[in-house]
Amino acid sequence: MASEETSVFFDTHCHLQDVRFQPDLAVRLLQAREAGITNFVCCGTQESDWDAVLEVAMAHPAVLPMLGLHPWFAYQARPGWLERLAERLQNPCIGLGECGLDFAIEEPQRELQESAFRGHLRLACDLNRPVSIHCRHAWERLMAIAREEGLPKAGAVIHAFSGSAEMAREAQTLGFYLAFGCSLTNPNNHRAAKALKVVAEDRLLFETDAPDMPPYGSTQGTLNDPANLRLAVEAASRVRGIDPEALASVAYRNSCRVFRGMLPTA
Ligand SMILES: [Zn+2]
Repeated sequence: MASEETSVFFDTHCHLQDVRFQPDLAVRLLQAREAGITNFVCCGTQESDWDAVLEVAMAHPAVLPMLGLHPWFAYQARPGWLERLAERLQNPCIGLGECGLDFAIEEPQRELQESAFRGHLRLACDLNRPVSIHCRHAWERLMAIAREEGLPKAGAVIHAFSGSAEMAREAQTLGFYLAFGCSLTNPNNHRAAKALKVVAEDRLLFETDAPDMPPYGSTQGTLNDPANLRLAVEAASRVRGIDPEALASVAYRNSCRVFRGMLPTA
């Protein structure tokens, strides 16, 4: 396919600091670069991995670091965490995430998740940094908090979007970008396909969430890889009925807009 030679891609959410990547991260990044992926937004999940995120970014200029507390680790929001995060964000090339709400799990408690999420959003708005948001089974609260706190002008991304088409519309009205990954490669994922179809061209992003969420049909235990981003874009192009190269370039432009403040050349 002609697009394979010419398209460029931007992975807007992954976790390259994950220990499972450390034996061969440089090789994986090289393969991804050869597959046309030019940038990788690497998201922290808890205070203990922030240093590792920054180290990966220092070693690989194509990696753009974000720091945050994933809702699964919201119980780590101990006194001073937000000040420590703000301190790190004195570097203007660092974004916020992964943060958000996950009500599919019982712990950490919702109140704790919501207060940590509000902290991220306030900081992102104050500093005008992009923010990468995780949301499962918490759509109404996510939208309510976004209305109350506002979103950073730089851009607020709901990563691995798993909501309904109706929620996709509402999220865009509030100003969110929506990012889709390799879950689109599952032909039975009709919910994601329906949501993808209502996303405006200028709100659409792609990601891998590597090493998690590998493409459909991967054998159990297979790590997802940033090079698989093109599979997500190709699957999305089939759903939207447009040329994969055209879709890749639309999403690439959107990615550059959201993350431009974090790019080394900015
Ligand atoms: Zn993630």
